Amino acid sequence: MGSDCLFCRIVAGEIPATVVRETDTTLAFRDIDPKAPVHVLVIPKEHYADVATLAQGDPALAADVLATSAAVAEDEGLLGDGFRLMFNTGVYGGQEVFHVHAHLLGGAPLGPMLARGLA
Ligand code: AMP
Repeated sequence: MGSDCLFCRIVAGEIPATVVRETDTTLAFRDIDPKAPVHVLVIPKEHYADVATLAQGDPALAADVLATSAAVAEDEGLLGDGFRLMFNTGVYGGQEVFHVHAHLLGGAPLGPMLARGLA
């Protein structure tokens, strides 16, 4: 990928982000439009479009994303009261940026899992 991908550009340092944790393979940074008191995005540095492509293409890298998410949850003090980790995927999942990212949300009760049920 590269210049067409927003999150690849963040990895490359071409677009600023508030980075909270970095490993050899992953980057975690604060969401620009937070939906909870803590809202961090955790991505693999290598470009995969979504979580299914990542999990099928490089399971070890998918595990790195989970491990970094857990480390950030601990850093942010979320382990006691809990948090939500989610991957919006594809059109029905509401994905807007097609570089896989885990949303780590916490710091307050997050309410029901979905804004509305299946009407
Ligand atoms: P999704 O809808 O799951 O693809 O989520 C994309 C997320 O990226 C949204 O929560 C946006 O607020 C967030 N976002 C978009 N641009 C940036 C940016 N430059 N830095 C940090 N977060 C961003």
